[in-house]
Amino acid sequence: MTVRTRFAPSPTGLLHIGNARAALFNFLYARHHGGKFLLRIEDTDRERSTQQAVDVLFDGLAWMGLTPDEQPVFQSTRQARHAEVAHHLLAQGLAYRCYCTPQELQQMREQAMAEGRPPRYNGYWRDRDPSEAPPGAPYTVRIRAPREGEATIPDLVQGEVRVANAEMDDMIILRADGTPVYQLAVVVDDHDMDITHVIRGDDHLTNSFRQAMIYRAMGWDLPAFAHLPLIHGPDGAKLSKRHGAQSVVEFREMGYLPEALNNYLLRLGWGHGDAEILSRDEQIQLFDLDGVGRSASRMDYAKLLHLNGVWLRQADDARLADDVAERLAGRPDVTLDDTVRARIQTLMPGLKDRAKTLVDLADSAAFLGRHVPLSFDAKAEKLLTPEARTMLGLLARDLAVIEPFDAPTIDAALRRFAEHHGHKLGQVAQPLRAAVTGSTTSPGIDATLAALGRDEVMARIGSVAQ
Ligand code: GLU
Repeated sequence: MTVRTRFAPSPTGLLHIGNARAALFNFLYARHHGGKFLLRIEDTDRERSTQQAVDVLFDGLAWMGLTPDEQPVFQSTRQARHAEVAHHLLAQGLAYRCYCTPQELQQMREQAMAEGRPPRYNGYWRDRDPSEAPPGAPYTVRIRAPREGEATIPDLVQGEVRVANAEMDDMIILRADGTPVYQLAVVVDDHDMDITHVIRGDDHLTNSFRQAMIYRAMGWDLPAFAHLPLIHGPDGAKLSKRHGAQSVVEFREMGYLPEALNNYLLRLGWGHGDAEILSRDEQIQLFDLDGVGRSASRMDYAKLLHLNGVWLRQADDARLADDVAERLAGRPDVTLDDTVRARIQTLMPGLKDRAKTLVDLADSAAFLGRHVPLSFDAKAEKLLTPEARTMLGLLARDLAVIEPFDAPTIDAALRRFAEHHGHKLGQVAQPLRAAVTGSTTSPGIDATLAALGRDEVMARIGSVAQ
């Protein structure tokens, strides 16, 4: 059997991290077993499913590196096929027409509740002859649900899950306007797409029992199910806005790397010994459903931030420099030409060592694209005393002539200068850093000057020196 998994989001204009994790698990499971990962856009709610909402999904998945192996299937294009299955069940007597009006259904629910019963459909038309209905009356199609016994679903995460059939009613599969309901569409699509494993959030567990009813009626094999426990906020409550970012786009904007978010989401609710930092290849090699825990996981933003720092330090400098340039583009105080881009890349090893996010990284690189006269933050201003400005003037003479203008030569020159004038290295380096960066933090001063290049360093020192 070739494993075929699918991610089946409804386009709501948001790729929630819970969904992104389901996509990741489907992807990894398929890859681990040499199978295929598919995407189905559940866009039957035509009002919400705008092109923009679909694009948000595609962008988010592409950013996470979770592109499907086949063309995405759009559920809305398959309604005729869904209806065909409903009519087949009708023809077989496995489903029936229900002529109850909305008012009658409402009364039925109210009566059930008044009698202390759950508000389910009571099977009024289950065994009635359709000729009893008023001619031309609209009808829905309901599946003939088993009434006795219990339904079991072997779940690869939750174990065997059972529900008494008496707890399920004859659900509608085709609405009065002839459109299929969601439960029918999912089953028909999963069957037609040859899906072998349905891996999704455990908020779909009750749906699975309803869907299993359709599989059984059609005589189709059930796929294997794996229901993933949900992601909660740090306080154990349902993840919501007040806990912080929840959508993949928000994390991207906040400067997270996709590797870090993937790694974090994988580790959230799945474990393999102590393995913490896992590359995509390692994830594929190690992932299986038996490592998925049964209880809800709690989002730990601090841990994600830590992982992001780890992944930033491992990331390629040119790639980070491109991302930083993109984040700096459009800032009024920053010019982004090839020279500035080259400076950013040159200083990247030092910059990324200190950053936790790409936003920090862009902030700390911004000085590389500024012009004289720089603006100085309060701490930098304080360091630029008249004495310091005089000292910088002297230092500039040395820096003007050293060859080559690279980090080791700059370092040696600064040490020589400090020694010659009876200063500690920091007494020279700190005002110098203030003068060339406008702040008191930057990577090593030698690497910082080397990245700026001699001309720029001379201009920046010149604008403050006396
Ligand atoms: N479209 C459903 C959702 O976004 C998922 C359905 C499924 O995975 O079966 O929640």
